[in-house]
Amino acid sequence: FGGTSVSSVDCWDTICRQVKKNIGAGKRVLVVVSALSGVTNLLSRLAEGGGRESIRERLLELESMHAGLFRSLGTEPSAEFRAHWKQLGRLARECTRKLEPAQRALMLAHGELLSSSLGRQILESAGLDVCWQDARTLLEARPESARNDGSELLAVRCDDHADPELDLRLSGEGSLHITQGFIASGPGGLTCLLGRGGSDTSAAYFAARLNAEALEIWTDVPGIFSADPRVVPEARLLRRLSYSEAQELASMGARILHPPSIQPAGRHAIPVFIKDTNRPAEPGTRIGEREPDEEGQVKGVVSRENVTVLTMENPSMWHQAGFLADAFAVFKGHGYSVDLISTSESTVTVSLDPQASAHIDEAAMSAFIAELEQYCSVSVHSGCMSISLVGNAIRTILGKLSAALDVFQDRHIYMVTQSAN
Ligand code: ASP
Ligand code: MG
Repeated sequence: FGGTSVSSVDCWDTICRQVKKNIGAGKRVLVVVSALSGVTNLLSRLAEGGGRESIRERLLELESMHAGLFRSLGTEPSAEFRAHWKQLGRLARECTRKLEPAQRALMLAHGELLSSSLGRQILESAGLDVCWQDARTLLEARPESARNDGSELLAVRCDDHADPELDLRLSGEGSLHITQGFIASGPGGLTCLLGRGGSDTSAAYFAARLNAEALEIWTDVPGIFSADPRVVPEARLLRRLSYSEAQELASMGARILHPPSIQPAGRHAIPVFIKDTNRPAEPGTRIGEREPDEEGQVKGVVSRENVTVLTMENPSMWHQAGFLADAFAVFKGHGYSVDLISTSESTVTVSLDPQASAHIDEAAMSAFIAELEQYCSVSVHSGCMSISLVGNAIRTILGKLSAALDVFQDRHIYMVTQSAN
């Protein structure tokens, strides 16, 4: 359940009803919650550091966000909730300066620690027998190799192999559990994060590790649409998607799912249901295996802003072995993740993944370009937009895309790429 799905009494009514329905049907349920909506943003502003007055104001704001929900529920915070709150207050006192990544992660984790404690209380008062689990005892970060300045603690990945022991342990404790999205344990037991929006991915890891029958992502929209409905009012709800379509849509700009959440489910063939907490009866989107007889079709159009495009030109690349290896070694060395790529005999054009490269500043970029220029001449175009048409087997219907390509007639296009899947 995402942030907006845990922020109101109505949403919690839906959560309780869904839980009861599943428990009643003999299922075991693990509820994974985000922080209340807006809380992680506030915590990360706190972690940026500031004066005592601004720390106090932010803490008050955080308190009132949670207090508002307690008031509407007509209950008082539990001792467990208050203990997390106290710990958060202690951390906040350090925030007169910008926090180091490890402390920042611990600070941000409190959004979920608080919301899950609150959630446990609500489930209990609905008459449910629920165990609260600390996600850091269930999920462990994979040792990250790329960056070593500590910032890797803020966007880790975890193993998604099935873990029958964990499954057994949880089933021994009860059939209903609640835990935090977004957080895991890292090296030496440090708290680490799965990146902003990472609760979806937490839920997917849990589903994979517990060999779940289904993964339900409850959010504030009725499912995945063929385009962003705020921009394209005639966009349609997509009732079914394959894992790879969902993966491409999520990675290329559909903001509804955290992109790394698809893979763990896909690898274990666990169906994913995107559901709207405010309209639980709506069918939502189901993500699963591709239908074998499905024809090529564009399922969705998504866009991303702030994409950087690099063109590398090297006239002597023709019939030479190793140019790409040399050039991409520079990308690797400087920690830049390549997103899209297209090549001709003398130029290679790539786009940089805006998320994966966000940590890199201008000075780092200059050093990177300077090194790359040992192998080719480089031009950089920043602030580009990428537009992706996503669907299975698009290559079989290229002719049908001509009308879509007309739209680009008067635009400055830096690259066009078509991928085999
Ligand atoms: N609370 C975290 C965030 O806002 C994780 C999530 O909501 O998925 O990024
Ligand atoms: Mg969220």
